[in-house]
Amino acid sequence: MEQKKLGFGMMRLPLLDPNDPAGVDLMQTCRMVDTFLERGFSYFDTAYMYHGGKSENAVCQALVKRHPRDSYQLATKLPVTMLKQAEDMDRIFNDQLKKCGVEYFDYYLLHCMNAANYAIATRLDSFGFAMRKKKEGRIHRLGISYHDNAQLLDEVLAAHPEVEFVQLQLNYIDWDNANIQSRLCYEVCQKYKKPVIVMEPVKGGTLAAVPEEAKKLMEEYAPGMSPASWAIRFAASQKDVFMVLSGMSDYEQLLDNTGFMQEFHPLCEQETEIIQRVTDIINSSISIPCTGCRYCVDGCPQNIPLPQYFALYNQLKQFGEQSNARFYYGNLSRRFGKASDCIACGQCESHCPQHLKIIDFMKDTAEIFDQPKKN
Ligand code: SF4
Ligand code: SF4
Repeated sequence: MEQKKLGFGMMRLPLLDPNDPAGVDLMQTCRMVDTFLERGFSYFDTAYMYHGGKSENAVCQALVKRHPRDSYQLATKLPVTMLKQAEDMDRIFNDQLKKCGVEYFDYYLLHCMNAANYAIATRLDSFGFAMRKKKEGRIHRLGISYHDNAQLLDEVLAAHPEVEFVQLQLNYIDWDNANIQSRLCYEVCQKYKKPVIVMEPVKGGTLAAVPEEAKKLMEEYAPGMSPASWAIRFAASQKDVFMVLSGMSDYEQLLDNTGFMQEFHPLCEQETEIIQRVTDIINSSISIPCTGCRYCVDGCPQNIPLPQYFALYNQLKQFGEQSNARFYYGNLSRRFGKASDCIACGQCESHCPQHLKIIDFMKDTAEIFDQPKKN
């Protein structure tokens, strides 16, 4: 049977207490896992760090102990950011096998690869470690989950041909985003012939709650189809995507997702046009109308990546903390000038075809990213 393109992301499981991420509602999770499998889906994605370290335990209870090992594929990840020394990898890996209650992982990823974590993985030879586990039969396929720009991804894949697949943040709002670079990263994967697993197809749930005008467009074309279904189908329609993960938090969400993904049909031309219009509607509500043309970038004496910062500012304003904008800002500001480094020389404004008040916008950006967070 052909593998279905929807995977169960075990990072937003139902909770017993909304304030305690480690308190997974196991009864509801078991019911969701059972229905997921009954409907012909088989891919489960967890990680060492999800749910305060309890997601892998939940996988063991809800999936591994209750279903035959050959009826599903399990993916988990090495938490590179937690590694201090090479010995940590063996300790954590063994702990993961034990917590999940399995002998092997079908898919194993080096988690959250960005410039900082790539440096750790290189220093501790995490790729070599994973390959040794693969030779021992403990890992079937090795991949990375990736959170940085396309240029670094190109470097990583050139240096590590042993990587068999890449997990990317990919959704229709980030597709042409100057900072997330979903499309550019996807194209790098195509260049190296690496199949792609998609994470955040609904952008942490935000594309499930699109503006009314956008929702109306979708509803008129396909009554009853949720905005989330459009977002997941957009990701699954990219031809080299072999799996789209959705972090499902309740049974209704699971029924919705498995409903439209049971017989998956890629977006047709008309639907693609609607997605474009929806993207325009969402983007028109943005705070800084930077087009990402980069005409301003080269002459900046402070080496500030202006369009990326403006894209992150817009993301934070539109989608809030769950947009991960602060995380991406941290990545960039370690390598380039910070927004608060701007000396107001005005060089950029003279090059901006949109005639943006860049100096003012840079102050706004510095205020939300470089100031200590107010509670
Ligand atoms: S005004 Fe600020 S952002 Fe623009 S070029 Fe000068 S230092 Fe760079
Ligand atoms: S020149 Fe203007 S529109 Fe183009 S990237 Fe810079 S700020 Fe954005």
